[in-house]
Amino acid sequence: MQNLLDFDADGLTAWFAEQGEKPFRARQVLRWMHRSGVADFDAMTDIAKSLREKLKARAVVAPPTVVSDKLSDDGARKFLIGVGSGNAVETVFIPEDDRGTLCISTQAGCALDCAFCSTGKQGFNRNLTVAEIIGQLWQANNALGAVHGDERVISNVVMMGMGEPLANYDNTIAALRLMLDDHAYGLSRRRVTVSTSGIVPAIDRLREDCPVALAVSLHAPNDALRDELVPINQKYPLKSLMAACLRYLEKAPRDFITFEYTMMAGINDSDAHARELLALVRHVPCKFNLIPFNPFPGSPFRRSPADRVRRFGEILIQAGIVTTTRKTRGDDIDAACGQLAGQVRDKTRRTAGGVIPIQELRS
Ligand code: SAH
Ligand code: SF4
Repeated sequence: MQNLLDFDADGLTAWFAEQGEKPFRARQVLRWMHRSGVADFDAMTDIAKSLREKLKARAVVAPPTVVSDKLSDDGARKFLIGVGSGNAVETVFIPEDDRGTLCISTQAGCALDCAFCSTGKQGFNRNLTVAEIIGQLWQANNALGAVHGDERVISNVVMMGMGEPLANYDNTIAALRLMLDDHAYGLSRRRVTVSTSGIVPAIDRLREDCPVALAVSLHAPNDALRDELVPINQKYPLKSLMAACLRYLEKAPRDFITFEYTMMAGINDSDAHARELLALVRHVPCKFNLIPFNPFPGSPFRRSPADRVRRFGEILIQAGIVTTTRKTRGDDIDAACGQLAGQVRDKTRRTAGGVIPIQELRS
């Protein structure tokens, strides 16, 4: 059985052609699935009964299951999305006055092992399928009542959940295309953001294949420190990363790169680090997003004090760089940045496994 949520528009059209069906039929089904949130072929009322029977025999519309759905005191809503074998990834909806942002995951675990990241510390389990990535938007839309032509509740999507999107390149691109497709979610490129730890060749591919807004996880102003915090830096050091950012801007839907910078006390948060950062990015049009470190069990780091984050931000702002400090949202339900692994109690399984056994998540 083919899961039709695993296709972007082109893929669906090609599959329909293999079944002897016309492209406009594929488009109708695409709209039912993604615009109307319909999974049942019999509810696709403008599709001929004979085609519905054919589809039922050969295909399914199977989004991943929502294992749990929790509301935080500050309005953030966290969904645990089942990815088989009793494991789950996380999706977080963050409502704000002028927008609703869905933070989605692209991998179960992550192989890149950044020193301060809970997902990284779990190791890599597997890439999510297209259906599992786009299915997070599908499920959140359904849960938030956003289907059937209602006002758009989810206006922005950020790939800032678990995993490195550019390490699951093909599935990420197909999911991005569905997000942008007018017959599916119709989001603007400016409102869809890929966050990457800096896989340079993949940034170049993204620029050609599907240039959406780009966030780059910087976290350090020099190679010596970044090699430690973000090990992929050993392969793609800062000079090559800055050059890739400049190339990306030639095609990007926004005229700046967002640099994310997780602030850890005594590690990367001094005035000298801020000034070194200014020198590093002086040729790159950018904004900074400072993220106070979110602790998780077993991590050796501490969050920078609020006045340190403020002072660090001031140095960037005085140099003319728009700098925001991310509010820590959803941390009462472990939905804050870098906590998107729940709290795994069993350390041995954590290092060996790489996924979150649901029964081990703190409820
Ligand atoms: N893999 C991608 C996207 C997922 S992480 C990336 O690394 O960019 C989303 C953001 O949260 C990244 O900037 C990441 O570095 C940051 N982050 C990870 N762990 C964190 C933690 N414990 N506290 C604060 N931010 C964290
Ligand atoms: Fe992976 Fe991003 Fe975490 Fe690094 S910060 S380990 S790239 S999810």
